[in-house]
Amino acid sequence: MTFFKYCPNCRSDHFEFTNTVRFHCLDCDFTYYHNIAAAVAVVFTFEDQILFTVRNVDPDKGKWDLPGGFIDPGENAEEAVCREIQEELGLQIVPKDLKYITTSPNNYLYKSVPYRTMDIFYECPLATDSIGINAEDEIQDLIWVRRSEITLENIGFVSIRKVIGERFLGNS
Ligand SMILES: [Zn+2]
Repeated sequence: MTFFKYCPNCRSDHFEFTNTVRFHCLDCDFTYYHNIAAAVAVVFTFEDQILFTVRNVDPDKGKWDLPGGFIDPGENAEEAVCREIQEELGLQIVPKDLKYITTSPNNYLYKSVPYRTMDIFYECPLATDSIGINAEDEIQDLIWVRRSEITLENIGFVSIRKVIGERFLGNS
């Protein structure tokens, strides 16, 4: 399965796309690396609860997700977190509010293009559970869930399922 039908440079269909990473045209030598993209995710906590968003867009529309998103060119990871949280929740946070947790690889299929990401996870304890949605096109609901009531199958992305399970529910 490949999402390039032809070489973007010479329109040849004579190419290789090794591991869906290195696209190489055998006719004109055009080479393109479909490298992994960096993304951030935030685990907001309040007392024993974790904040999940409910996705309003594919991939995984209707599934639980965490606030966050792709890092823009020129941003560092913490700046991307602060921008995404402002955009999605209308909440102002600063890098020192964030505690680094870990990273985890993810797959993100968008309009038939299989992106691979490296998700960078942070924890951000909040003093209140009063938090709203700013990006209703992307997020259909916000839910605070007690750790004992988290159902990992409700979480769409494999990276988030893994980090929540291992770091917050004590699964190995
Ligand atoms: Zn070519």
